[in-house]
Amino acid sequence: MGSVDRSALTRTVRGLWDDDILPSLSELVAVPAVSPIFDPDWAENGHLMAAVDHVRAWIADRDLPGLTTEVFELPGHAPLLLVDVPASGTTAEGTTILYGHLDKQPPVADWSPGLGPWTPVVKDGRLYGRGAADDGYAGYAAIAAIEAVHAAGGSHGRCIVLLETSEESGSPDLPAYLAHLGDRLGDVSLVVCLDSGGNDYGRMWLTTSLRGLLQVAVTVRVLDSGLHSGMASGIVPSSFRIARQLLDRLEDSATGEVLVREMHVDIPENRLAEVREAIAAVPGTLTQTVPFAGGTTAVIQDEVELGLNGGWRPTLSVTGAAGLPALEDAGNVLRPFTTLLLSFRLPPTADAAASFKAVQDLLTTDVPYGATVELGRVEHASGWNAPDLAPWLSETLDTAAEDVFGNPWRTVALGGSIPFMGLLHEAYPAAQFLVTGAVGPDSNCHVPDESLNLEHAAKITEAVALVLDAHARQV
Ligand SMILES: [Zn+2]
Repeated sequence: MGSVDRSALTRTVRGLWDDDILPSLSELVAVPAVSPIFDPDWAENGHLMAAVDHVRAWIADRDLPGLTTEVFELPGHAPLLLVDVPASGTTAEGTTILYGHLDKQPPVADWSPGLGPWTPVVKDGRLYGRGAADDGYAGYAAIAAIEAVHAAGGSHGRCIVLLETSEESGSPDLPAYLAHLGDRLGDVSLVVCLDSGGNDYGRMWLTTSLRGLLQVAVTVRVLDSGLHSGMASGIVPSSFRIARQLLDRLEDSATGEVLVREMHVDIPENRLAEVREAIAAVPGTLTQTVPFAGGTTAVIQDEVELGLNGGWRPTLSVTGAAGLPALEDAGNVLRPFTTLLLSFRLPPTADAAASFKAVQDLLTTDVPYGATVELGRVEHASGWNAPDLAPWLSETLDTAAEDVFGNPWRTVALGGSIPFMGLLHEAYPAAQFLVTGAVGPDSNCHVPDESLNLEHAAKITEAVALVLDAHARQV
């Protein structure tokens, strides 16, 4: 096999982005393909399938020998697009999975003048619109990387591009599809996930861990029906006060430290070092874009501690409530119950099921005044800690960092979750993982004015091409 022609690789990636990807990705922005959880009638509305068809048509048109596309539609599950590209220039076995998603977050209000969720706008090197950065570009970038390897005389193993449509709903459909695909994926040796990003556009960022999550609704019930608060207060214990006491078992209200032992883990040395390096590369990154109200400050001033808090420590957010009327409807009533929706983020290596068991015990044992406690809406998923990089991959990333970005690559301990990574890691324990992407600190995913930095997306594409080529050569 010949060696890859670096300038041909760059030229191909740039040409593809300018001439082929941008027009098609812009059309994809216009498709209101919100994730199933935000559109219960998604099947009838057909937007998810429209997005799949649009991207499939573009991919099927590419000049890649042997490329096939297939759309899977299991009953009751959002569709999945699978693209299979046979190996080229290598006899190495092993499949590379390139992952992304075509479902989107809801539009939300208050986009800036001239911008809108379903209106693609190219301005200042960005493509604005919902789903441009999260995560519409992923399939295009994956195919462009493979195409660039071809054009530059490089080689790649068998590549399967998987584009799902339920990621923003927590990927509930993926396990069924993975089971359905069975042996079809072959022996997965490399996973490239293009649904992440980093803290600036000056370098490549690798996500090396993801937090898990645990959600549970806790209801404290003290009465079968509400009573006049003037008559009952002081006699009947307040359900809100009991809820506060129960929360105190879970979290130190002065510091935010989660008190559930099962949720704490030893932070690995390498991850600690990575957080330090990431903060040193882009100081201020964790707080600069936060819209703090008034004089609000971060939880703590030490940035490394903030990084560890957000990536490797458990946290509790109360994300919803019931039993509390809206202000205009609230009378002088001692309410019968209070429900709080508790959302924990768990360290990457914490056991989500054991964490739930511990929370269950803490909330239901020795409840003050013998009040009734009910738990509901339970959902939990463990996080993910990347396997160590194989030497070939870390050397390739070093080279790509130097050649493409001119800066060393850095890592992110992501506070959120990408459920598919854990699933794949379990299924293919020996696989290498490259979790990265074009999202930057101002990409506005999930909020108004989402945009994709086109230059950065092209650079990420180029880096992925180099990794594909190196992967094919290291066997
Ligand atoms: Zn995403």
